[in-house]
Amino acid sequence: MPEVLTVLEPATEAVLEKVPSAGTDEVDEAVARARAALPAWRALAPGARAAQLRALADRVEENLEELALLEARNAGKPLASARSEMGMVVDTFRYYAGMPERLMGDTIPVAGGQAFTVREPLGVVGLIVPWNFPLTIAAWKLGPALAAGNTVVLKPAELTPLTALRFEQLVLEAGIAPGVVNVVAGHGSVAGVRLVEHPDVAKIAFTGSTAVGREIAARAAQTIKRVTLELGGKSANIIFADADLEKAAAAAPWAVFDNAGQDCCARSRLLVEASVADRFLSLLQPHVESFRVGDPLDPGSMMGPLISAKQRERVASFVGDGAPVAFQGSAPIGPGFWFPPTVLCPVDPQARAVREEIFGPVVAVIPFRDEEEAVRLANDTIYGLSGSIWTRDGARALRVARAVETGVLSINSNSSVRVSTPFGGFKQSGYGRELGPHATDAYTETKTIYYATT
Ligand code: NAD
Repeated sequence: MPEVLTVLEPATEAVLEKVPSAGTDEVDEAVARARAALPAWRALAPGARAAQLRALADRVEENLEELALLEARNAGKPLASARSEMGMVVDTFRYYAGMPERLMGDTIPVAGGQAFTVREPLGVVGLIVPWNFPLTIAAWKLGPALAAGNTVVLKPAELTPLTALRFEQLVLEAGIAPGVVNVVAGHGSVAGVRLVEHPDVAKIAFTGSTAVGREIAARAAQTIKRVTLELGGKSANIIFADADLEKAAAAAPWAVFDNAGQDCCARSRLLVEASVADRFLSLLQPHVESFRVGDPLDPGSMMGPLISAKQRERVASFVGDGAPVAFQGSAPIGPGFWFPPTVLCPVDPQARAVREEIFGPVVAVIPFRDEEEAVRLANDTIYGLSGSIWTRDGARALRVARAVETGVLSINSNSSVRVSTPFGGFKQSGYGRELGPHATDAYTETKTIYYATT
């Protein structure tokens, strides 16, 4: 009997679909197809490769509603969020369709001839993605990888393979040759490991947990594979006393409960200046209590369930362990992996809820005395992915933004990710940057060519 992945709908716990689980043989076959497709894909004229990426964006856009519904049901996210994520997938391919004609090098003055550099594709690239933003995070990697002339093998997370499998069909419908994009839906410990070990894979672009990222980097070292890692986070939302507290309190739930907190950019530490902490919490409470948790397909739902029973058990383990509940929203009872939006206060600075990534709708409130302490607390973590600063003092906002050790920061906003700006982490949140104009650098090698003229 071939092994299958049983794909659940987290809002109902019902089986959504069963798909064959790719093992090492299937990964080897996918890599062989990608290798066979590489010469023709990299030889395509830049304008022709750009046109194919635009056609792919069009195909995704034409099927946006179907993909959004599939993602909403499989990942348990509100349909409106899934629609906007699929919109970002379209935008990502349109943005990177501009890149094949902009992969530029340098000319360098040297003696006796002419030296210049060109950007070469790496070859076959392995893309390994998590379950929280399944197709969106895949697109962040697919866009620059394909634009630069690589062929790819994409491994979606075992819990959420459905949009990636549908996307593989859309690639062919867009007129892109078979073998350029290959999807292997299988377990990380089997299909993921094989992709990382495969000698014909030149690079692994990974998004997922810091623990698995560490393992991938170690394994990839055996074949000196290029690796980029987008890993976990423990970001701070820093509220100064002079901020527009009403606005900050209305935004704070979205900073951590969006996608049920299953977001590497979740601001799961809420740092509040002590002089306004009580007032801020009283402004925050009604927003948390009215944060509507329910059926992802109900347009009124602001948050869906967690991805799995295991994830719910893990999230629950942080609550009460040196971190009592100050107030909570509500969540449906019955089938579905529900968890209510939860605010923890007061917290022990050594509590797991303060130190570890929770990846659920739970935030720890930590008061601070002054700017210096706010920065020290914000940086007191192994992670450095995202964060927010709320203040009306522009100079302070910029001072703190420079001092916080994190890859992305927003001032008076929750924003973390857009197609045109670089995204990635400091410290154990990973290395490399996705999105923005330079993402193609991570999917190319620089080659120097010297032409003797004497
Ligand atoms: P995970 O690390 O468990 O799995 C991610 C992917 O890696 C999955 O496809 C999985 O099958 C695969 N995998 C697992 N073990 C593997 C192995 N030994 N070798 C190769 N592949 C393997 O992560 P998850 O639970 O799916 O996702 C949640 C994590 O992802 C969180 O830590 C979150 O912060 C992180 N994340 C980071 C970003 C970012 O951009 N920094 C974005 C989203 C999620």
